[in-house]
Amino acid sequence: MKNLSDVAVVGGGPCGSFCALNMAKKGINVTVFEEHTEIGVPCHCAGHLSINSLKNLGLYPLPRGIIENVFYGAKIYSPSGLEFSVRFASAITCAVNRTLFDKHISHLAEKAGVHYCLSSRVKSLITKDSLVKGVIVEKKGKPVKFFNSLVVDAEGTAYRILRQAGLAPPRIDSFVYCVNAEVENVSDLELDVVEVFLGNNYTPGFYAWLIPKGEDKAKFGLGAKVGNPKTLLQKLMKKHPAASKKLQRAKILRESFHPIPLGGPLLKAYSDGFLAVGDAASQVKPTTGGGVIFGLNCAKVAADVVAEALNKKDFSSKFLSIYQRRFMKLIGFDVKVMLEARRVLDRISDKKLDGFVGFYRKIHLNEGFKDLKEIDFQGQTLLRACWNPRIIAALAYFFTAYLQQTIKG
Ligand SMILES: Cc1cc2nc3c(=O)[nH]c(=O)nc-3n(C[C@H](O)[C@H](O)[C@H](O)COP(=O)(O)OP(=O)(O)OC[C@H]3O[C@@H](n4cnc5c(N)ncnc54)[C@H](O)[C@@H]3O)c2cc1C
Repeated sequence: MKNLSDVAVVGGGPCGSFCALNMAKKGINVTVFEEHTEIGVPCHCAGHLSINSLKNLGLYPLPRGIIENVFYGAKIYSPSGLEFSVRFASAITCAVNRTLFDKHISHLAEKAGVHYCLSSRVKSLITKDSLVKGVIVEKKGKPVKFFNSLVVDAEGTAYRILRQAGLAPPRIDSFVYCVNAEVENVSDLELDVVEVFLGNNYTPGFYAWLIPKGEDKAKFGLGAKVGNPKTLLQKLMKKHPAASKKLQRAKILRESFHPIPLGGPLLKAYSDGFLAVGDAASQVKPTTGGGVIFGLNCAKVAADVVAEALNKKDFSSKFLSIYQRRFMKLIGFDVKVMLEARRVLDRISDKKLDGFVGFYRKIHLNEGFKDLKEIDFQGQTLLRACWNPRIIAALAYFFTAYLQQTIKG
């Protein structure tokens, strides 16, 4: 029997480590358990992040080598290959090497005093009268007990530990299944632009991305609600009118597969002695599937709540419910807007998507977005942009088309 620290964190991904870092800064004793032998490996993520949000989290600039590229704009291709592009005055997003990014946050946490146990898989929770009291960790094939005042679950999309805490994981129909590949020999790469490809025949319920790394190299992937992502990626490369021009001769160097929950945060991400953060709490943008920035923001909120709970020695579900209220105050409005947008996008035909892109080109919608700085909190961004006549016209067109389609059935 061991009593290692005040708090056990399950998972050494960015959200687990960032929560641990923020707890350690408050003088809390934290141990992170990571099942793999190395932080950040294997990597499943494209690592496309907003520079502004990283700055707000105190994580930008990043040390040399972590940033692979920065981007001044985006190009979106409709199912028939029509192009809509936006360009900004300054670099707005970056692509990070996720393995190095995760390691960087864990190094910051270690420097702040966090203890890391690698090759340590949390098998189950220790509970007494439904209060979580610690974790049982498998180390070298043997179970070891660690008693803690609180457990922070940052296990990503596994949801094993979350279930044991009596919490409900995201609905199965809220997931998209993704592939992210490293590719070379890509034609006509515009190095400072991220490209997005749409089309229900290629990426049903989501989209595909091309994120240049340099010369002819890029990260390339897609998500889909139905179908095999690997097969769909091949189809996109060979047949999508815009993607095939760039990717027909591309060589896939590596591929990884992983799901993304798009249904918005869990309705309950806490229980007695237990909080969930990051993908484990489904703190992910329902439009783009980006989970790093929302997860890191919520991990910071969790660290504050843990500190207060330890001060008050109150680990009850009732007390910890302030975590849910606080993180929903932070991201709730934006998630609501994005969920609505996702619902509309999920029901729109390829023909209508072509119509949108055509209309947006005609009204020069890109002019309405050129001063954009914030891409994560999309509800607030839309509110701020609503004075712009081009954006009002775009929204009106979008909803009219959606209503027409819904009425037609
Ligand atoms: C293909 C793809 C592309 C993506 N691209 C982007 C992007 O460009 N931008 C963006 O913002 N988001 C992106 N995302 C989402 C992003 O990857 C996640 O939101 C993010 O990784 C969540 O971080 P996390 O720390 O919550 O979970 P994870 O990064 O999944 O980390 C969880 C950690 O917990 C460990 N673990 C799990 N169970 C246990 C256990 N029982 N015991 C010990 N350790 C355990 C795992 O090994 C892992 O290290 C993408 C996702 C996919 C699938």
